[in-house]
Amino acid sequence: MGKLAITGGKPVRTKPFPKWPCYGKGENKLLAEVIESGIWGGYNIKVSEFENAFAEYCDAKLCILAVNGTVTLVCALISCGVSPGDEVIVTPISFISTASSVLLAGAIPIFVDVESDTYNIDPDKIEKAITKRTKAIIPVHFSGQPANMKKINEIAKKNNLYVIEDAAHAHGAEWQGKRVGSIGDFGSFSFQNTKLLTCGEGGALTTNDPDLADKARSYFNQGRKPKRGWFEHFTLGTNCRISAFQAAVLVEQLKKLPEENERRKTNIEYLIKKIKGINGLIPLRIRPEVTYPVYYIFSGKYIQEKFDGIPKETFFKALESEGIPKPEFYPYPLYKNPVLNQSELRKPGNPLYLAHKDSPTDYDKLSLPESERAIKEGFWLAHQTFLGTTKDMDDIAEAIIKIRENTNELKNIK
Ligand SMILES: *Cc1c(COP(=O)(O)O)cnc(C)c1O
Repeated sequence: MGKLAITGGKPVRTKPFPKWPCYGKGENKLLAEVIESGIWGGYNIKVSEFENAFAEYCDAKLCILAVNGTVTLVCALISCGVSPGDEVIVTPISFISTASSVLLAGAIPIFVDVESDTYNIDPDKIEKAITKRTKAIIPVHFSGQPANMKKINEIAKKNNLYVIEDAAHAHGAEWQGKRVGSIGDFGSFSFQNTKLLTCGEGGALTTNDPDLADKARSYFNQGRKPKRGWFEHFTLGTNCRISAFQAAVLVEQLKKLPEENERRKTNIEYLIKKIKGINGLIPLRIRPEVTYPVYYIFSGKYIQEKFDGIPKETFFKALESEGIPKPEFYPYPLYKNPVLNQSELRKPGNPLYLAHKDSPTDYDKLSLPESERAIKEGFWLAHQTFLGTTKDMDDIAEAIIKIRENTNELKNIK
């Protein structure tokens, strides 16, 4: 029997960590109001109430609510005029929607490598990837830290490109004093169950451009126009309107977001100080221009050699045995997901065949070094882990230190 819980020792902790989502009586009250209103879909006042509150929260002029944060990306691309055969620059260290939305719009995702210390798209590598067909850039604010929006906006302006912020990790984060979602042409948010602001499933676009907002709203509403008939359709759209139940939950949840963001930030900053001396565990760097980071995940790098060669997965399992939530990371850079296998995309009969048959990209051969390294070294812990107390942070640090000091016990663990 060893000292580590995974080899039979006593775990650092048995008490559970906070659960997500958090809620109170307020959600029930607003849901009851929706039921009794008889307006469950379409345009219950709760929808515009949330749209106005969220636009204001994001320092943006306008907000359009929709059913998830994947259709919002597709809609943003289509509203910016991205069409089949166009190219859109994306980051490989993200959730699939960042790239699949481009495919769904009929366009071609072009992957640009990330910065080694933030895992955000590397702006210095964007210009080399721009061609005559490039129409837009989708930076992701990975983990909740804004991407380098100053450089990205400069490049976009110079090359006449749209910028769509994928802010699905970053509700409330600030870059140089500006909230994400108000910095690019569009901000795209997700309110799916795990996100920092949630109603189970949902999404929103924010923008300062009334013309883009009109296009997006019309796309989500079957191509209708304001003040025109329900059965009059002017452009090709779809129905992505969110129900009033979801909007009601969002209205209540948004009130709690600032305090939750602050609590997570305080806890994580405390934890970072505690684990600073641990050789081999490096939190992602927060750039000085990030005037307010939020934490959808607390992410960093695990350096295997510094832990006596113990693989990342074994470290994760050992941490879980100590009573700490198990860390995770994406299994592939996005371009290695089977959906992006280009021999498939280039088969006649594939709906994307025409766009991809002459595409200059070859995902099957693509290897972006910093992204590949991120997949190897990266870890994250989910945000609800940081909604509790300072004592919770002490336990996480204690478990990590305990594992670091007893790596000899992990040599034979598979
Ligand atoms: C969650 C997420 C989305 C959208 O997800 P939905 O589940 O469709 O709401 C988009 N981009 C990123 C980076 C995400 O993490």
